[in-house]
This record gives sequence, C-alpha cells and structure tokens, in this order.
Amino acid sequence: MRTSHQSIRECRTAVIAATLALSLCLPAIRSAGQEGLPKKEPKPQNIRPTPIPKFPGIVVLFSGKAEDVAKNWRKNMSTQDATWAVMDRNLQSGGGDIVSKQDFTDFQLHVEFKVPFEPGSKDQGRGNSGVGLQSHYEIQVLNSYGYEKPGTGDCGAVYSQHAALVNACRPPGVWQTYDITFHAPRFGNDGKMSAKARVTVIQNGITVQDNQDINGPTGIGGDRPVEKPGPIYLQDHGHKVQFRNIWVLPLPDHGSDRYESH
Ligand code: MG
Repeated sequence: MRTSHQSIRECRTAVIAATLALSLCLPAIRSAGQEGLPKKEPKPQNIRPTPIPKFPGIVVLFSGKAEDVAKNWRKNMSTQDATWAVMDRNLQSGGGDIVSKQDFTDFQLHVEFKVPFEPGSKDQGRGNSGVGLQSHYEIQVLNSYGYEKPGTGDCGAVYSQHAALVNACRPPGVWQTYDITFHAPRFGNDGKMSAKARVTVIQNGITVQDNQDINGPTGIGGDRPVEKPGPIYLQDHGHKVQFRNIWVLPLPDHGSDRYESH
C-alpha cells in the first residue's frame, strides 16, 4: 500500500527530473541566433585572390587600384564619382551605396568580399552589405557563419525572397567569393514581363542559388528602369565590408543555333 510519504517523494523526484531536463535545454535556447558569433576573432586565413581571367570581353571593375574607384564607379542615384576608400588594394564600403558606371543585361560576375568581426552585434547588424544585380536584385552579404539553416535575410540569399540552399559562409575576417550568373527579366512589346530574372550564385565554390527565379526588385532602389540594362551595385550598410577582384563578363542571350561551328 502506498504511503503519503512515497507519493510526496515520487512527486519531488518528478519535479527535480523536469527541472533538470529544462536546465539542459536552456543553453540551446540561449544560444539560438548566436551560432555565427565566434567568441574570439578568427585567425586570418591566407586566401589568395582568384586571378582575373584573361578572356575577351571581360570588364574589370576593381583590380586593387585606387583609380579604379572613380573611373568605374559612381554614387548610387547620382552621376558623381564613387568615393569608397581603397586600403591595401581592397575596396572598403563607406560613404553610401555605389554602382558601376557601366550597365549590363545578362552576365557572369565575380566578386570577393570579407565581412568584419563584430562581436557586439547580431543578425542584420553583422557585416551587412550586398551585391546588387542591375541595381535591383540584392544578393545579401552578411556574417551568417555557422547558421545551420540560413534564412532569406542571410548571406547568399536573394534578399528577402530566397534563402541560400546551404550555408557556405566562411568566418568573419576571411575572404569569400561570389560567382554569379544573371539573366535579366524579359519584357514583351506590350511592356509586360514575359520571363522573370534568374540567378545562379556560387559562394566559395558551393552552389547556394540554382537558376533561381527572382520575383522582382528586392528594395535596393536602382536608378534604371527594370526593363533596361543596369549597373552592378555594392551596398554601404554602415559596416566595414571589403571587396576585391570585381569583374563582369557580359553574356549573350543564347549561343549559336548552328550545329557546325565552321
Ligand atoms: Mg544587405
């Protein structure tokens, strides 16, 4: 026969077990959203710039020279030359968004970037920048290192539309690469869109966007109509994000219809 003492003892045991289980869960709950925040500044890694290919038609927008900035870039929504600083042959954001002086339609784009270590910040406040296509479609740049499942606001996303398929981010302070293939939206004679823009993004050699439809402009606000060619855009979100080795290869709409090439 159960005594009242036994019932009380069982009840205490159950309470202790529940408390213990809850306390084991707490560190995981507390750490949610902090995965990308290393406690110590990551050691610098000697990741060399990818050599710019010597290929006909390539447009080099930044190769490490200070004169590249005013020559190839202007302030967004302005005709004034860009004024971002060049430090150790790297282009550092600061002074407002910039766009290339040349406009593009379909293209391959290579850009390398490095987000800063900002231990006091979180979420969109860590290394925020962006690479804009035709100055309408932002591929997000952010410190999203370590997130198991990146969101639509994280690095590698078509901003606010399509999250990266996988998290290919390197830690802050380490150079990363974007290799982007972009197809502009198409419009019929009636002015209506007949095909959405499409983008493939390879981050550090890993596919994070695979021929992805883009629903429409992501809100970065370019000064070109969406029906027309537009510039490459680099975002200044108030963080010291650096860029290097930026080049574009304009692409035709499609290759030859001929089987024989000669
Ligand atoms: Mg951004």
